[in-house]
Amino acid sequence: MRVLVVEDDRALGAVLRRGLAEDGHAVDLASTVAAAEKFLLVEEYDLVVLDLGLPDGDGTALCAKMRADGHSAKVLMLTARDALSDKVGGLDAGADDYLTKPFAFPELSARVRALLRRPAESLTPILEIGEIRLDPAAHTVWRGAIVVPVTPKEFSLLHYLMQHRDEVVRRTTLLDHVWDANYDGLSNVVDVHIANLRRKLELPGADGVIETVRGVGYRLNA
Ligand code: CA
Repeated sequence: MRVLVVEDDRALGAVLRRGLAEDGHAVDLASTVAAAEKFLLVEEYDLVVLDLGLPDGDGTALCAKMRADGHSAKVLMLTARDALSDKVGGLDAGADDYLTKPFAFPELSARVRALLRRPAESLTPILEIGEIRLDPAAHTVWRGAIVVPVTPKEFSLLHYLMQHRDEVVRRTTLLDHVWDANYDGLSNVVDVHIANLRRKLELPGADGVIETVRGVGYRLNA
């Protein structure tokens, strides 16, 4: 999933970015309302982790503006204040949940999982292609009756390909959705993960279920 973290505390922002990336999300980090608005203009997010007190504005106002602009991303609000009025204000502005600072990362991780699970459970309980099944809520992949151990990145890749079955998905699209806007690592990272997925799922090679479309990307054939 694609996540935008809006947090001006550098240390906390870095912790959130690293932790959410380790959970398998593609994470962008903004430290001001202005920077967040720029990201929201060009990217589509599944979730926004939004600090209440920002140097150039207020998280509640940004949340209300996002909703007015039609953004459907889930919003998890972070507040240093424990006042009831802040929580009510945040929820009124369209936030889906809030967390009071200080918190431990596993608590935020659990809230994020719960928030991202909501639509997955109601819309697509389990994705299925041939013998392969993927449960977005339980974060589990099976081949037949056997659970296949996959890394968070491999899971996200397979999830995206299954959601776009029978379409040619570009490498750059996969990089964008599974890694993040600033990824500058190995350019063959997608191919390496696809090769691992094929091996783990015991799929045949380049013209099998996960087909290589030369020079473009991949297509998952249903
Ligand atoms: Ca702050």
